[in-house]
Amino acid sequence: MADRQASSDESPARQSASASHHVDSRDVQAHAPLPHPAPGGSVATATRRAASADRGTHATTNGAARSETRRSLAEVITEQERIFIDRQPGSARLAAEAREALAGGVTSNWQISRPQPVWLSHGSGSKIYDVDGNEYVDLHGGYGAALAGHAHPAIVAAVQEQVTKGTHFAQPTGNALDVARELSRRFGLPQWRFANSGTESTMDAVHLMRAVTGRDLIIKVEGCYHGHHDSVQVSVYPDANEMGPEDRPASVPATAGIPRALTDLTIIVGFNDLSAVDRVLGEHPGEVAGMILEPIMMNAGVILPEPGYLAGLRELLHAHGALLTFDEVKTGLTAGPSGAIGVTGVTPDLICLAKSIGGGVSVAAIGGTHEVMRHIADGHYDQVGTFNGNPLAMAATRAMLYEVATPEAYGRLDALRNQAVAGASEALNRNEIAAHVVAVGAKGCIVFSPEPVRDFRAFLAINDDYSHAHWLFQHNGGVFLPPWGKSEQWLISVQHDESDITRFNRNVAHFAACIGSA
Ligand code: PLP
Repeated sequence: MADRQASSDESPARQSASASHHVDSRDVQAHAPLPHPAPGGSVATATRRAASADRGTHATTNGAARSETRRSLAEVITEQERIFIDRQPGSARLAAEAREALAGGVTSNWQISRPQPVWLSHGSGSKIYDVDGNEYVDLHGGYGAALAGHAHPAIVAAVQEQVTKGTHFAQPTGNALDVARELSRRFGLPQWRFANSGTESTMDAVHLMRAVTGRDLIIKVEGCYHGHHDSVQVSVYPDANEMGPEDRPASVPATAGIPRALTDLTIIVGFNDLSAVDRVLGEHPGEVAGMILEPIMMNAGVILPEPGYLAGLRELLHAHGALLTFDEVKTGLTAGPSGAIGVTGVTPDLICLAKSIGGGVSVAAIGGTHEVMRHIADGHYDQVGTFNGNPLAMAATRAMLYEVATPEAYGRLDALRNQAVAGASEALNRNEIAAHVVAVGAKGCIVFSPEPVRDFRAFLAINDDYSHAHWLFQHNGGVFLPPWGKSEQWLISVQHDESDITRFNRNVAHFAACIGSA
């Protein structure tokens, strides 16, 4: 469950969030491993059952249940991939053509999905449409950025107005001040700067922690993703055979091109492991600048901080003269109106925001305490960028904060999340699937493990084939979840409605009926 602190620990952000949006356990749902009611059934039994590949009766793909020879999970996936490809000849054509001019045929490696990338034509409200004319309820949300949905009238109006007044000056505009003030109100950190992507914001945060403390080492959590700059491209998704012992994880480069000299400066610990941070700080006295983490892990499904973990980190780090950065690029406005800070009541020294804050326009923000941000103000740390505070981005972000991510919108998101969690849990339970649902704010996912997952290593042990099969069933059933299987989670937007979630739940039911007997 989420970190909960005594009232003295509550940030201004949490207090203001509580006033405008009731943040309580309803906002964070970690459904316990589901009971398996069959005689003699247990969680372990159900896990074996889900993994078996014997023969019997099952439900067909996205259709009514029917009786036929039971197939293995691999066979179900093969059939779903065939349906997927048959539905998308236009995407197949473009994917083949694109390999000539686009490296790998896509514009980011994350757009490569199995069995083939999906080429889109447009989005509107809660829906997106592929080049073959298929409609999808969009729960991908552009990897968690589309909290506003698509072509939201407030974002369209703000961008249209700004386009006619100029799209770039590299000088501050009034909207930047409005945005900074509203971010301060929500997140309880007084000073802000802007950038263009999550990567830039976490890069600035790491630089700032080093600039403020004059130290080089940083602590990073195994399995957290913070973008693609050198210091954090370490142990993002390490292989089991290279990640080292659990009590002393290795610093594994996440990709080629990251020098060992830099990965050596990033020390890895497990999520929810306070004693590991204590150990690292003790072993490197006066050398650790700070720690960066996703306060709610969202690049390994959804993993919640245990009670006291985040507050304990802040206390430990401060006791050693080090700083705490929350990477809320994903959780930002999606975990609630004040992100994970609002949900947990713990305010760090620095916060990184991006993705959803721009309403679909590229923007990022870094917020910090006066103590930290004065190093920018006095020129000690050069926080720069041609497009920082870009007027188009600021207009969209202002509309997002003041007109889209409103208390009413969060009320609707809560109801839709509850509908998704209840429907998915019921279907998984009924079909005795060894899985559970974890959700917070507008985000959530099915975790194909009977046990709650508390860190990356437990997450790594989950069989990704179940997530892939679920993704295929959703896709072929008209719901676009993010690709990349168990790592990602759904995002419900302010433009989704009950019928969208009903479609999602119907697909979970078809999937569960099929897999439950596979
Ligand atoms: N931080 C987190 C938690 C992320 O999930 C991501 C991207 O997915 C980033 C940082 C990097 O953001 P961007 O892709 O905008 O550079």
